[in-house]
Order: sequence, then C-alpha cells, then structure tokens
Amino acid sequence: MRRVLILGGTAEARALAADLAGRGLHVVSSLAGRVSNPRLPVGEVREGGFGGPDGLARWLTGERVDALVDATHPFAARMTASAARASEATGVPLLVLRRPGWEEGPGDRWHRVPSLEAAADRLSRRPGARVFLTTGRRSLPVFTSIPGVWLLARSVDPPEPPVPDNVRVLLDRGPYTVEGERALIREHRLDVLVTKDSGGRMTTAKLVAARELGLPVIMVNRPPLPQGVHLVDTVEAAAAWAAQEG
Ligand code: NAP
Repeated sequence: MRRVLILGGTAEARALAADLAGRGLHVVSSLAGRVSNPRLPVGEVREGGFGGPDGLARWLTGERVDALVDATHPFAARMTASAARASEATGVPLLVLRRPGWEEGPGDRWHRVPSLEAAADRLSRRPGARVFLTTGRRSLPVFTSIPGVWLLARSVDPPEPPVPDNVRVLLDRGPYTVEGERALIREHRLDVLVTKDSGGRMTTAKLVAARELGLPVIMVNRPPLPQGVHLVDTVEAAAAWAAQEG
C-alpha cells in the first residue's frame, strides 16, 4: 500500500488526509503539537518535531514513505525548508500544497510588509493606534513595546505571560463572520488591522470588515519557498499527485 506523510496543521492538510484515506492509501498526518486542542485529521496522526531535516529523513526512510506532502501553514518556513532538504537527501518525492495568498481588491487599503518586524516598524509611526492583531500568539512580543499603541491580540491559545497592560487578549478560533468582525472592530474602536497573508476562506471576514469600515491593513507577506519545489494550490491537485507518486 502506498504510504504518504502529510505535514499538517491546516484545513487543507485535513482535507487531503480524508481524500487519500478514501482512496485506500496509508496516510500519516504530522502535527507540530503546539495547539492544545488541535482539530485532528482522519487516519494516523503523529505529534511533535522530527529533529530537523536529518530526523525527518530518518523518519521517511524508517517508515518507508513513498511520498511527502508539505501542507503546513504558509508561514511555517522552517518545516518547509526541512521537508525540502529531507526529500533531497532521501529521494522521497515532495509536493508543497499552499492555499493561494490574499489579493487586494477595490476599496482595500493594504500596506504589504516583508516581516513581522517591518509591521511593527510601520505601527510605530502611528502613535495612539488601536490595533487588531491576528498574527499569532508567538508573534506578540514583536508588537508589545511600541510606544502609545494598544493591541487587541486574537489567538487560538493564550500567549506566554506576562501580558502587558496595553494588550487585551481574545481567545478564539475561526471561522469568523463579517458581522462578528465588524462588531469587534467597533466595540474596541480598532483603527488598523495587522495580519499575515495566510490566505484561505476561514479568516477573510476580518479583511472584508476592514474594507467596509475603511481600516488600513498591514499585510505581512509570506516567506519565500525553497527553490525548485513542486507547488500546487488545491487539495484535489495534491491528492492526484500523492495517489500516483512514489
Ligand atoms: P515552523 O516554525 O516552520 O517549525 C518549527 C519546527 O516545528 C519545525 O522545524 C519542526 O521541528 C516542527 N514542526 C512544524 N510543523 C510541524 C509538523 N506539521 N509536524 C511535525 N513537526 C513540525 O512552524 P510553525 O510556524 O511553528 O508552525 C507549527 C505548525 O502550526 C505547523 O504545522 C503549521 O502548519 C501550523 N500553523 C502555523 C501557523 C503560522 O502562522 N506559522 C498558523 C496556523 C497553523 P523539527 O525541526 O524538530 O522537525
């Protein structure tokens, strides 16, 4: 039976696991183990890091994996780099599945920046800003010491304490509605949104609400992919590849 390892942590990875299991393939999904109560894919699941590219290469060989799909989040750059190196070392074919990024449309006021630090720098030029921050709990320290800025930081799990006085944490997990996002922006008098270009439909409501209410958006661009990787942007294309490859 064809054996596929999916590097997961995304809705696309779960959909792919279900599709491949339905085709009768042996699928293992791998999660980093960071979220306390993750949504689990169907089939076999393993949790925790592999120990870098060498550890992943050993795992691929030891488990006789025929094909590797990196369906991690577009900002999980270390895992993606590790997958590319392990694939090169072992000869196990690698496919990267990435949902398309978001695109600015009429009425949007986006400022694209290359990194979280650049986003923080941009905010430092807006003293008094009330920020809707959706870049994840581990990025919070990048933003907390900007003078005169107040943050509503939304994340799935709580950030590491201590949380400074200028931060209000909101624990929540999508999908969100435009009505809900609009209400949140109004309730907290937020005047700028900071987000990563994660793409996907689950979290677009905040972008629609920002457009409707005229809020500027600081959009952190995705990190680049390793050179030469085979990339698809739909679960269907990834499933077709994994079913044939290896
Ligand atoms: P990262 O910085 O690229 O990865 C750091 C290390 O965590 C990796 O080197 C690897 O450890 C381990 N790791 C990451 N993803 C793994 C996986 N799927 N299975 C096993 N080990 C994994 O990744 P991250 O940004 O912390 O993201 C961690 C996970 O959360 C990913 O699975 C990603 O899909 C999901 N996620 C991330 C974001 C985000 O904004 N970054 C958002 C939503 C979901 P070793 O080197 O020891 O193998």
